[in-house]
Amino acid sequence: MLAELSPKLVVEVHHAAKLLAASSRICVLTGAGISAESGIPTFRDKQTGLWEQYRAEDLATCTAFARDPQLVWSWYQWRRQLVHNKMPNSAHYALAQWQQDTEVYKQHLTLITQNVDDLHEQAGSTATHLHGHLWRNRCSQCDVLYNSPLDTQSTGQSQRLNSIASDDDKLIKCTHCGGYMRPDIVWFGEVLPVQAWQTAESAAANCEVFISIGTSSLVYPAAGLAQLARQNGAKIIEINPNPTPNTVVDITLAEKAGIVMPLLLKQIDGLLQR
Ligand code: NAD
Ligand code: ZN
Repeated sequence: MLAELSPKLVVEVHHAAKLLAASSRICVLTGAGISAESGIPTFRDKQTGLWEQYRAEDLATCTAFARDPQLVWSWYQWRRQLVHNKMPNSAHYALAQWQQDTEVYKQHLTLITQNVDDLHEQAGSTATHLHGHLWRNRCSQCDVLYNSPLDTQSTGQSQRLNSIASDDDKLIKCTHCGGYMRPDIVWFGEVLPVQAWQTAESAAANCEVFISIGTSSLVYPAAGLAQLARQNGAKIIEINPNPTPNTVVDITLAEKAGIVMPLLLKQIDGLLQR
């Protein structure tokens, strides 16, 4: 694996591993890029098929839903179909393993995600979701969490396919107030869930190292967490094959998360087992 990486990256990974092995409080923020190698497109990828003519950023808004709820619901049903059979990749598994090992390592790792998929959980992690959950719905009017056939949190993944394959695109009305059901997702322009945001702010402000993985650092307030960490003295590591506007980065690991994370964890493990 090391042979495939550039000498510069090998040095940077080692540098990052030494920093992390010497730290006890770590905050990790993940974005759509960590799920890209699992086959889930990011918002920066061009949409395909029926949805080619739309930009994801123009559909994931309350204005779009108010204007055309059917269009937005159909798009989410399509995204659910796209995601339902996707599995965690080596980056999700490496993070989950690290979370499990923190007790032995005497570290504290808070995992914050902007993703609405559940691949961190499927890999065995506990994650704080800043932008909600693709597999949950709520009423767009009265906010009641809807226990619909598509709300598969309690019914398990095998149910997803069946429930989505039937009746897919039909809008569903809330039995309490008649409002339309919407995905329980934070759309562009909406406020983040208070508890999740408090967890994220506190973890960022109190960490020694902040790791940003697979995020374009364009979507606020999540993108401000790295700055908050930096203001409080943390070192910042970024894992992303492409450049981002994040200006507070100390170590850039410019490679796919699925390649970097297992390597990084192996090295941290090696350093802490000594
Ligand atoms: P984004 O789409 O804006 O950016 C993705 C970033 O990932 C890019 O900078 C890209 O260079 C990087 N990337 C691509 N492949 C990568 C890889 N293999 N390893 C590491 N990095 C890689 O995503 P964002 O910053 O998370 O913000 C957009 C919003 O989109 C969020 O609110 C999120 O909820 C939503 N979203 C979520 C999912 C998901 O749940 N999987 C998918 C698409 C969009
Ligand atoms: Zn309602």
